[in-house]
Amino acid sequence: MTMKVPFVDLKAGIQPHRDEYLAQITDVVDSAWFAGGPKVAQFEKAFAEYCGAEHAVSVCTGTDALILALRALGVGPGDEVITAPNSFFATAEAISLVGATPVFADVRDDTLTIDTAAVEAAVTEKTKCVVPVHLFGQVADMEPLEALCKQRGLLLLEDSAQAQGASRGGRRAGSIGHAAGFSFYPAKNLGAFGEGGAITTSSAEIADTLRALRDHGQVGKHNHVHIGYNARLASIQAACLSVRLAHLDEYNAGRRRAATRYGAAFAEMAGVRTVHEDPAGEAVYHLYVIRVANRDAAAASLNEAGVATGIHYPVPIHLQPAYASLGLGVGSFPVAERAANEMISLPMYPELPDEAVDYVIDCVRKALG
Ligand SMILES: *Cc1c(COP(=O)(O)O)cnc(C)c1O
Repeated sequence: MTMKVPFVDLKAGIQPHRDEYLAQITDVVDSAWFAGGPKVAQFEKAFAEYCGAEHAVSVCTGTDALILALRALGVGPGDEVITAPNSFFATAEAISLVGATPVFADVRDDTLTIDTAAVEAAVTEKTKCVVPVHLFGQVADMEPLEALCKQRGLLLLEDSAQAQGASRGGRRAGSIGHAAGFSFYPAKNLGAFGEGGAITTSSAEIADTLRALRDHGQVGKHNHVHIGYNARLASIQAACLSVRLAHLDEYNAGRRRAATRYGAAFAEMAGVRTVHEDPAGEAVYHLYVIRVANRDAAAASLNEAGVATGIHYPVPIHLQPAYASLGLGVGSFPVAERAANEMISLPMYPELPDEAVDYVIDCVRKALG
């Protein structure tokens, strides 16, 4: 028996709530309030509450969220920002775009989130901020990072783009650092019907700066106090995001159900490692990643059997051509580099049927011979 298993299926999550989305879109069309307005305010309030933060400021993309958050935290030219090399490119890109220098610290081999000891070793007099990435939907080791940042007077910005609803020690992603950046790219756990992003923070001052930055630095009409951006979230996106947010816990539970089924099978299978889920937290499985020795052959065998796969990410950020000027060659971050050569992302979405999970597990077993 063969099956076609897609990597994600956005329709499966949207179709059951089609009428709710269309009602929201109709509201926006009828009000003709397309930028800002009540839909944006409603979504921001609900998202802040969901994350356990005082404020949420919506923006156009997750990349904007990181850029504006860094700006609002006062990060700029001359500053160093420590982050993980095994993330989507945008994490480091945002640091560079505000004029600061990304400094990478290697990750833990089991969870693939940033290693606090490596962060500590990378701190210099120029370090201003640390940006842990809640990779694949798992919150990084925030308690030791918070302690380190407090001790060294550093700011802490969570890259929560993959972690809407994830928690650690009972605290949700977005409520732990001085600020957190979220992406609502359609394939993220909380996805818009286009691009979207937000920053959460519990500082009223940071939130006010963010609201100004996203609107050309304006504080009051025609009073531009910062060189800002046009980074406002469209009302129609906010309206659709409110519907998705109301169902986010169900979606995340669906992801965890599939992840638990994968995990139970792979725990018994020789030649496969999974990404360890630290019992201190609850991951939301934006991606389900396994590690195998002969990655390219295994992925080809899975694809042959009808199983779509991905690699997140095949080239660590420090080895990307855009960062050649940092002079960080192969061997700079051995844990992240080894993982990049071993990882395969398997199909993962909230409605992934058990039979499909079982089929993928079977195909992985066959792929490993
Ligand atoms: C998706 C993502 C971003 C960027 O978000 P966009 O909405 O695509 O701009 C940043 N960091 C991480 C870890 C991401 O996964």
